[in-house]
Amino acid sequence: MSYQRIMVVAGGGAAGFFGAVNAAILCPELKIIILEKTHKLLAKVRISGGGRCNVTHACYDNRLLAENYPRGNKELRSALQKFGPKEIIEWFALRNVKLKAEEDGRMFPVSNSSETIVNCYLNEAAKYKVEIKNGVGIAAFQKNERFTLTLTDKTTLECDYLLISTGGSPALSNYKWISDCSGHRIVPPLPSLFTFNIPDSPFLGLEGVSVPAVKVSLNGIKHDVTGPLLITHWGVSGPAIIRLSAWAARELYEKDYNCMVKINFFPEENTETFKQKLISERAQSPHTSLQQLIPSLPQRLRQRICEIVNVNPNAALGSISNVQLNQLAVKLTAFELTMKGKTTFKDEFVTSGGVTLKEINMQTMESKLVSNLFFAGEVLDVDGVTGGFNFQAAWATSMAAALTIASRCKENM
Ligand SMILES: Cc1cc2nc3c(=O)[nH]c(=O)nc-3n(C[C@H](O)[C@H](O)[C@H](O)COP(=O)(O)OP(=O)(O)OC[C@H]3O[C@@H](n4cnc5c(N)ncnc54)[C@H](O)[C@@H]3O)c2cc1C
Repeated sequence: MSYQRIMVVAGGGAAGFFGAVNAAILCPELKIIILEKTHKLLAKVRISGGGRCNVTHACYDNRLLAENYPRGNKELRSALQKFGPKEIIEWFALRNVKLKAEEDGRMFPVSNSSETIVNCYLNEAAKYKVEIKNGVGIAAFQKNERFTLTLTDKTTLECDYLLISTGGSPALSNYKWISDCSGHRIVPPLPSLFTFNIPDSPFLGLEGVSVPAVKVSLNGIKHDVTGPLLITHWGVSGPAIIRLSAWAARELYEKDYNCMVKINFFPEENTETFKQKLISERAQSPHTSLQQLIPSLPQRLRQRICEIVNVNPNAALGSISNVQLNQLAVKLTAFELTMKGKTTFKDEFVTSGGVTLKEINMQTMESKLVSNLFFAGEVLDVDGVTGGFNFQAAWATSMAAALTIASRCKENM
């Protein structure tokens, strides 16, 4: 017997809205209900990117794009291939929302306001008759022929397709209903995207000084990142640090955020090659000052490093001893800072961990354990570095789920 199929979307955030709206466009016969447990819709979209919403990243090579996901880099490729930055730009353009790329590749609406994105989704949801219930979430579900959902207001609801897009959370307890009802394993959630606290920083007083390219590594952790560094009141920040925090999120958690951080201010050199360069420079141009030799470092930082190794930055190279040159090479290529704790970066954080990807068909985003159950967005064990990659993962995974649900619904009609 043919009846109207129902899709329920758990979570009225980025992935939930995108999945719901696209399923509605692709299969108008489907009845779609978004359940949002809070009274706020698209809350993170609204506050994202400092109120500007960094929608995606201007990167059109899917392999390179996928490299921005410490968790999910291989598994996401298929979803990103089908629905990457190019497709989201086109999707918004069709709805008269133009996106622009900044120099570093981040893409924002031309309006510079996240409200443009929020309004676009709300308008599309209204246009395609997506029903939205807020203040009520899913507490549990059972799957027989159909899903029977138990809602947080103790009522029940039946549906044929369930898309779980409830976002990330640092508390494992928030995933319990998912694992209890579906049997899915949850990779324990941890925070990603943070800056490093260096309470005994030798760079105190240099807040605001930035270096365009340093290589940062962590003692006993295999990841390293090259990029801009910013010295802050509480330690170090900037793209290199935030990216490293994402790649090393789990290892740093295990070390309770206590770790030796190494900074190489000349990423193309190591201590030995740099020392040899200093020695040969001293032999060839003994009258050159250090100041002239390393002009790429900001003056205040150069001065501080020279103070630490007890060298006058204006002194001629010829007057600097081997011991001093060696110390200088060490400080400039392997400066050690002691990290003790972390600080959230501009309140932007993502969760590393969530529903394990091994149990999901990453082409369709359907559960391998429960048929017609789908997952999208940050609830999955997927997270990206800053720059629009987290929203891009939400769009790509929810679009994959919407395409599958819509075609399955049509087959069943
Ligand atoms: C301050 C801040 C700024 C950010 N800026 C950017 C940015 O500019 N670019 C970028 O790419 N990423 C950014 N991020 C990350 C990005 O916001 C998230 O990765 C993205 O919102 C994930 O989308 P989602 O739909 O999976 O989850 P969410 O947007 O978190 O939505 C999940 C929704 O599900 C609801 N929910 C939870 N449990 C239930 C339940 N049981 N039943 C029903 N509903 C439930 C929640 O209330 C929530 O509304 C930012 C994050 C923060 C915190």
